[in-house]
Amino acid sequence: MSFSVAEVIVDVPTYHVDRPFDYAVPTEWANVIEAGSRVKVPFGPRNVLGFVVGLKNDTDVPANKIKPISHILDMEPVLTAEMLSLAKWLKNETICYEIDALQVMLPSALRAKYEKIVNLQDDNAILPEEAQAIFGKRRQVNFKEFEKLGLLPLLKELIENRLVKIDNVVKQQGNVKEVRMVKVTDDIQNLDVALREATRAVKQRTLIDWMRGHLGEVLKPQQIYEETGVSSAVLQSVVEKGAARFIQEEVYRDPFTKDVTRTHSLTLTEEQAIALDAITKSMEAPTATTFLLQGVTGSGKTEVYLQAIQKVLEEGKEAIMLVPEISLTPQMTERFRSRFGEMVAVMHSGLSVGEKYDEWRKIQQGKVSVVVGARSAVFAPFTNLGLIILDEEHESTYKQEDSPRYHARDVAIWRSAYYKCPVILGSATPALESFARAKKEVYTLLTLKQRAMNQALPTVFVADMREELQKGNRSMFSEQLVEGIRMRLERKEQMVLFLNRRGYSSFVLCRDCGTVVQCPNCDISLTYHRTTEKLKCHYCGYEEQVPQICPQCQSEHIRYFGTGTQKVEEEIYKLFPEARVLRMDVDTTKHKGAHEEILQAFGEGQADILLGTQMIAKGLDFPNITLVGVLSADTSLHIPDYRAAERTFQLLTQVSGRAGRHEKPGEVIIQTYTPEHYAIELAKTQDYDPFYEREMFIRRRSGYPPYYFVALVQVSHEDVLMAAEYAGRAGDWLRGNLSNQVAIIGPTTASISRLQNRYRYQCLIKYKIEPNLIPVLQRLLAMYRAEWIKQGILMTVDLDPSTI
Ligand code: ADP
Ligand code: ZN
Ligand code: ZN
Repeated sequence: MSFSVAEVIVDVPTYHVDRPFDYAVPTEWANVIEAGSRVKVPFGPRNVLGFVVGLKNDTDVPANKIKPISHILDMEPVLTAEMLSLAKWLKNETICYEIDALQVMLPSALRAKYEKIVNLQDDNAILPEEAQAIFGKRRQVNFKEFEKLGLLPLLKELIENRLVKIDNVVKQQGNVKEVRMVKVTDDIQNLDVALREATRAVKQRTLIDWMRGHLGEVLKPQQIYEETGVSSAVLQSVVEKGAARFIQEEVYRDPFTKDVTRTHSLTLTEEQAIALDAITKSMEAPTATTFLLQGVTGSGKTEVYLQAIQKVLEEGKEAIMLVPEISLTPQMTERFRSRFGEMVAVMHSGLSVGEKYDEWRKIQQGKVSVVVGARSAVFAPFTNLGLIILDEEHESTYKQEDSPRYHARDVAIWRSAYYKCPVILGSATPALESFARAKKEVYTLLTLKQRAMNQALPTVFVADMREELQKGNRSMFSEQLVEGIRMRLERKEQMVLFLNRRGYSSFVLCRDCGTVVQCPNCDISLTYHRTTEKLKCHYCGYEEQVPQICPQCQSEHIRYFGTGTQKVEEEIYKLFPEARVLRMDVDTTKHKGAHEEILQAFGEGQADILLGTQMIAKGLDFPNITLVGVLSADTSLHIPDYRAAERTFQLLTQVSGRAGRHEKPGEVIIQTYTPEHYAIELAKTQDYDPFYEREMFIRRRSGYPPYYFVALVQVSHEDVLMAAEYAGRAGDWLRGNLSNQVAIIGPTTASISRLQNRYRYQCLIKYKIEPNLIPVLQRLLAMYRAEWIKQGILMTVDLDPSTI
């Protein structure tokens, strides 16, 4: 079929252009262009990126007005028909621009600048004359050469006949980081020569002797300094004498270099078998059933996922395995890779732009059948999906906070309807909304009550920190926890110490006037970073030196308070100088592979204590962990959010689940200033049902989800009065246009009332049924985009805010 007109969504996100525009398809491209391809089109004075969303032969645009497409960027479409209709749904469901919905489905490499290279696939193939003329003796040529000669139809033919392949090479450089390493010579004679030359230099001799034990090895300079005690100057001289040389080495490893040992399906427990059976039945039907797999920590949910995926692969279909970013531990990905080998692609934020693109290509070209990834992997371009799984489905990282503000769970369910395949939502502590849906039989509930190897759940103790204070214990460790740590150190068992949120309370406070040093751009206290002696804002990146005197009252009694991970580490060393601590937080995991290194070291028993933030709450599975300590359970309880109790319960249950997963029984100590709070009380028994009942009661009473839906309209401006004024207008307008069944709360100041120099106000909409809501919000947005935006107002609408 050939078409003369293309409907194109252009990359210009404003209200006026949020619809397809018609462009003429140049005749020589009529057979080349397909829906889902990216193109360049003239728009106003510029050429912009666009997506072809439809093709046709007639248009209302007069023949002398219609402009032609200027470039075709994809010979094979990057978006399938499914994706194009998913984008329409997202646009309506989350109220976003269609262009945003289209872009979110693609890896960023396809948004960045890149070059298209045509690669010859077979050296001996006989090419059509015209193609042969272009290639000459080369194996690869630039796409532009075909384009210039008007030979795109020929190129398309070559691709279809698999004679050539197009690769996109990202132009953006600098993704590859290099470090300086030392390579010791592998020739013992060189060492002897160096030694002779260094007769008088004792330190150099020491180093050269040490190097005998490391012939040919590539080492970090730091390691050499530490093991030999020599300085960099000594190393330099030894290098000059030829005993070693400096080399540049890539820091980033290919995500797939590590070998894995193959694992096989385990014999399922009875509970697991029942769950798997229900899932496979629905695959055979086939129906788009959403299962909620609720299983206590260590109950073997992952084994159920693995075997369900196995079934999918046997059917010749594909599976998406979503995990929260923070639990994308190497441990987790390894479990999938060791079961399915090269069939698995991995997608997470730790990969470079190029690596992400490579993984995406593997999926698009059918080289893999399973993807393990974070939120955006829900858009993996499979075309024969058999299953989508969300592990830890309650995690807030599944919700995207920028446009399009989608929830991966909703997208998964949409795609499952498209493919008539099941979705599995797995969790020990499902989101209240999900459990409520399971109770109403919208989702099918599957339960795993026992741990897979029948281990007991860990015993949980709660340490009342108020009592500790009364007893005169001013440290951050309760007596009980100190005792617990001492015992584990003696027994050579391992521990996990969990701190709620990085550097949460390491602020700088003046003891005379009580001033806490705040970010000048945001209404948030600055966080103290010990290593750099700096104060940093975690929201906008602002940083400054730690002040010596109070900026308010000039007092010198200004010092930092609180318990960042670094502070805890110091305290541990004070109490237990012999303890070996590994710290895992945002600071120690900056470079790629750091996660993996820390966990591997811990797994190998190189440390007694793993100390960390959220990152260590999930996915860890080490046999020797027998104690989990939660240093301050309260921190997440006091954030002003209706989900605070739910989050705390989930977090405590998660962390506790790290203990006693194998033969040795586990113990958990939770430190808190509010032991009577039900979220903490109930986390003690890790009993989901009573927590659910209790929390549902509160949600009903206060009118929050799942009894009501909420939507959030946020307005910001550099001027506080303008922000308040327009938030007021938004509130009034909503009140005037929504039914009186809807509660509109606000405007109130947002929980962070100023961010990056903008004052923030919000209106919260609570409703049960309001068919008008989306059209009304769309009209509000239209008003904003047409008028308010010119006043410097920014407004966002979130139909499923994860925090309020
Ligand atoms: P969850 O994902 O529910 O926290 P996991 O899948 O990590 O639980 O399982 C916990 C432990 O139990 C793992 O070490 C896993 O290998 C083991 N396990 C799971 N299922 C079985 C089984 N059927 N037989 C033996 N061991 C199992
Ligand atoms: Zn002061
Ligand atoms: Zn800031």
